Amino acid sequence: MNKKVIIIGAGIGGLGTAGLFAKKGYDVTVFEKNGNLGGRANIFEENGFTFDMGPSWYLAPDLFRHFFELMGEKIEDHLDLVQLSPSYRIFFREGSDQLDIHSDIDRDAASFDTIEPGAGDKLRTYLKQSEYQYGVATQHFMYKNYDTVFDFLNKRVATEGQKLSVFSKMHTFVSRFFKSQKLRQVMEYTMVFLGTSPYEAPALYNLMSHMDFNQGVFYPQGGFYELIRALVRVAEKNGAVMNTDAPVAEIIVENGVAKGVRLENGESHNADIVISNADMWFTETKMLKEKDRTFSERYWKKRVMAPSAFIMYLGVSEKLPSLIHHNLLFSEDWRKNFDDIYKDPTLPDEPSLYICAPSVTDPNVAPDGKENLFVLVPIASGLEISEERQEQYADHVLSLMEKEMGLPGLREKIEYKRIYTVENFAADYNAFKGSALGLAHTLMQTAIFRPKNFSKKVKGLYFVGAGTNPGIGTQICLISAELAYKRVHGITSAGPLATL
Ligand SMILES: Cc1cc2nc3c(=O)[nH]c(=O)nc-3n(C[C@H](O)[C@H](O)[C@H](O)COP(=O)(O)OP(=O)(O)OC[C@H]3O[C@@H](n4cnc5c(N)ncnc54)[C@H](O)[C@@H]3O)c2cc1C
Repeated sequence: MNKKVIIIGAGIGGLGTAGLFAKKGYDVTVFEKNGNLGGRANIFEENGFTFDMGPSWYLAPDLFRHFFELMGEKIEDHLDLVQLSPSYRIFFREGSDQLDIHSDIDRDAASFDTIEPGAGDKLRTYLKQSEYQYGVATQHFMYKNYDTVFDFLNKRVATEGQKLSVFSKMHTFVSRFFKSQKLRQVMEYTMVFLGTSPYEAPALYNLMSHMDFNQGVFYPQGGFYELIRALVRVAEKNGAVMNTDAPVAEIIVENGVAKGVRLENGESHNADIVISNADMWFTETKMLKEKDRTFSERYWKKRVMAPSAFIMYLGVSEKLPSLIHHNLLFSEDWRKNFDDIYKDPTLPDEPSLYICAPSVTDPNVAPDGKENLFVLVPIASGLEISEERQEQYADHVLSLMEKEMGLPGLREKIEYKRIYTVENFAADYNAFKGSALGLAHTLMQTAIFRPKNFSKKVKGLYFVGAGTNPGIGTQICLISAELAYKRVHGITSAGPLATL
């Protein structure tokens, strides 16, 4: 008989794991609490608009491609990827200027020179470093399970630690290259993707710039949720069984061994291996008895959580020519903006904004002649925001967009609006403190210091997803699926698997 694997949660990590184990011949069953599969990469439709609720940047296409190849699939058979051009637009405050990033080094270096003479050449040097860093990370670090600090502080880090910028901070690193606040912001904003601030993130994360500048920004036609459909299709093709509206209440443990799960409806299901993709804090503190927990409440209290988000899904009655697919507006007071998120949690008065307008690229996500907008403000996790305050803040953000992003009269053109914020993340995904992304990528929560993907107390219990290694991000959670697979099979290699 095939061994039985139960996966709790159908986020990207859970779906990826389901695919890998099903392909290897295990009997795989997924239990997802929500009505939709995909976790934070969720979707909803309203008034003719189709909104991707979470991820929208399809970056590092090589990492997605690798996963599909490992599953014996061609990604082209599943996703119609288009490269966005320009990749994204940055608006600076007071309508001063805007900057389009093209992911074409000659054009981008020329744009950098117009903001800071000589910065174009510095960009070239910077991106060479990012590319090197990305190569080392993907071949030697990200696909490796760490057991001891020596696994991480291996010969490579010891000899190249300085070059790999493991120990300095991102802001310090970027400041060595660029003097102007604008260009520093351009190189640092990706830290928000990692749920951290450039003042805290280790500089090795400058590898992020290899993704947006060198590799380019992609979009799966039909929407980001097409990725979820593809992962589900591939896992089901190999025999995985998906159950929605099936919240798990408890992981059944006997004599220190995981034996299965009990659902909230009382049903029990046996398994040889249990892999939780649910929020790690939730898995540990709500699904396990105290004696079976690897981490105490005290441990969680000391964690640095990635931001939550104040999100608006907007249906707009006409096209908005000043916007392209991805748009960013940076706060003037960059440090204060990060302090509002991490140090003195409050709704930022002068926030940085991210606005995605997928209807610029994709006619399927909005009715003809209308615009689909996803507006995201990174805010502190754990904030309590009354409904009245949410509406006030929405108005504040919209007026900022009108003023700073060439969108006069935007508020009158909105025919659909839904606000989604801290308490929604907590309720929908059991997310600790309603964080949008999970554990932040500070140095002390990276690699060896991030929670491991197996329980130290319960044999046969594993973890997958953004809360464990390598961490946050859609393609990164597919790597975490591969790491869970490697962990169960005792595979210790550092690079991506060539075959299952
Ligand atoms: C607003 C937003 C924007 C983002 N933008 C990007 C982007 O542009 N590009 C990018 O690459 N990444 C982006 N990310 C990050 C990326 O989406 C996440 O890191 C990734 O999707 C997390 O996947 P995961 O495997 O950790 O699972 P999750 O998505 O956290 O899913 C976990 C699943 O477990 C389920 N669950 C919880 N409790 C139970 C239970 N008791 N029983 C059963 N199931 C349970 C949840 O319902 C959920 O479906 C974004 C995230 C957000 C929120």
